[in-house]
Amino acid sequence: MSKGKLIVISGASGVGKGTVLGLMMQKRSDLLFSVSATTRPPRPNEEDGVHYYFITREKFEDMIGRGEFLEYDAHAKNYYGTPRAQAEEKQEKGHVLLDIEPKGAAQVRKAAPDAVLIFIMPPSMEELERRLRGRGDTPEDQIAIRMERAVWEMEQRSWYDHVVVNDDAQRCADEILKIISD
Ligand code: 5GP
Repeated sequence: MSKGKLIVISGASGVGKGTVLGLMMQKRSDLLFSVSATTRPPRPNEEDGVHYYFITREKFEDMIGRGEFLEYDAHAKNYYGTPRAQAEEKQEKGHVLLDIEPKGAAQVRKAAPDAVLIFIMPPSMEELERRLRGRGDTPEDQIAIRMERAVWEMEQRSWYDHVVVNDDAQRCADEILKIISD
């Protein structure tokens, strides 16, 4: 089998990327989620090795030094990065979905020019803030920071290959599935 594609999915925190990715993977068993490494602490529903590899700053910086990341970035006071070996292994088995923010997406585009970059927009800023609050896992003092970052992130959509609106998670998932099968 030839190597699978790298499919980058970006969008502001709270836009529903996790739900959309989950719905896509339910329909296509050849789509594999790239598990990132991060230094942020796990949320109550998150499992090490499934949602993220939760590692220390020291380990993360060692991995940077050894060139073990396909891409990485520091935001919201933490490091986030895609372990290269893990993504390459998954590319042997199918297409790899990377839930990463724009600075990481730009690094992926450079390293793998045939990667497909997709940006998910919320129906409106009001709806984004409502979803972020409704999720209940973002402290109030983080909401304003995340909303400010969302504005910057959404400006970056101009250089993505595709922009989709998450007005309904299933419809949005189906639209992305169509994009990647074209
Ligand atoms: P959260 O802390 O809410 O899980 O994620 C915050 C942001 O980090 C999201 O926009 C997510 O897409 C991004 N992110 C998650 N993993 C990675 C990664 O490996 N690399 C980069 N550059 N961003 C990531």
